[in-house]
Amino acid sequence: MIPHPDIRDLSLEELAFYLKTVDAEPFRARQIFEWIYQKGAWSFEAMTNVPKELRERLKKGFILKANAITQKITSADGTVKFLFCLHDGEKIESVLIPTQSRTTACISTQAGCKFGCKFCASGIGGWKRDLSCAEIVTQVLHLKEEARQTKRPLSHIVFMGTGEPLDNFINLMKAVRIINSDQGINIGARHITISTVGVVPKIKELAQEGLQVELAVSLHGYDNPSRNVLMPVNRKYPFDELIAACRGYVRQTGRQITFEYILIKDVTCTDHAAANLKKAFKGIICKMNLIPYNPVSEFDHQTPSREEMLKFKNSLEASGIHATIRTPRGKDVNAACGQLRLKN
Ligand code: SAH
Repeated sequence: MIPHPDIRDLSLEELAFYLKTVDAEPFRARQIFEWIYQKGAWSFEAMTNVPKELRERLKKGFILKANAITQKITSADGTVKFLFCLHDGEKIESVLIPTQSRTTACISTQAGCKFGCKFCASGIGGWKRDLSCAEIVTQVLHLKEEARQTKRPLSHIVFMGTGEPLDNFINLMKAVRIINSDQGINIGARHITISTVGVVPKIKELAQEGLQVELAVSLHGYDNPSRNVLMPVNRKYPFDELIAACRGYVRQTGRQITFEYILIKDVTCTDHAAANLKKAFKGIICKMNLIPYNPVSEFDHQTPSREEMLKFKNSLEASGIHATIRTPRGKDVNAACGQLRLKN
């Protein structure tokens, strides 16, 4: 038997089409969307302005339920980390990060990760599967509810949880459109960031999608050899090809890219690395987000000292690269990069 589809796998247009096939008015699609994505309904029964008969039919045809929460931990700095258990037992992490100016949801796109970056906990247990559109948006719904309860309304989404967003492109695009749509979760495209390990053909495809979302590229290496070692994906999509694809993306979309660069003591946070980055980024207008390495026990890297990180940042800034050092959040709850999932 084919299991019931999750209603959150349907776009507004698909839902309207389905309603036509069961002789319901197409405008009900908007009502149902509003219940799910704006009023936070976790069941069809809750949709009181939808005729009872239609609610019954939806209940028979579709799934709409909350995730099972395996763990929920609140950090001293207000970061809330969820570990959800999916229908097949796979576990995924989502993190809510409130700051002074914004409340950000960090969302996973795959169960596990196949890219095996040599500093990231997500790749250690290997890759299990892609998340469906419904599984992606349901994480956002949970975090939105949590944010509302703590009176810090959800304002931003980053696809920086477990997995590679661009390796699950179709489901990601569908989820982004539901998150962005004013009939859906209604978060502005510029408040949505997709972070990628650097899947070159998908960066090109993303440029064609006509979305105004933010793109972040995990660079982490300063040249081809260093990136080959730290990020095996570089052997398929080498450093120069990636930079060229990024230039193309900026040209085509008129949008800036943020580069993420991990600061590992004596590995990526060195004078030699800074000099190479300056060479590679000559003439590229971009932001460089420097991320202090967050220790993962399976790797022997170390986080540089504050002075070393500042020296690196200042050296980039001196040659016109706009760089900021990211403040780590939720350290006490293993909020970084797949660590909670790994421990479970
Ligand atoms: N696959 C996507 C998104 C997930 S990772 C990507 O690679 O961009 C989100 C960010 O956290 C990436 O920049 C990743 O490289 C970084 N990251 C992973 N492990 C880390 C660690 N131990 N310390 C600091 N940053 C880490």
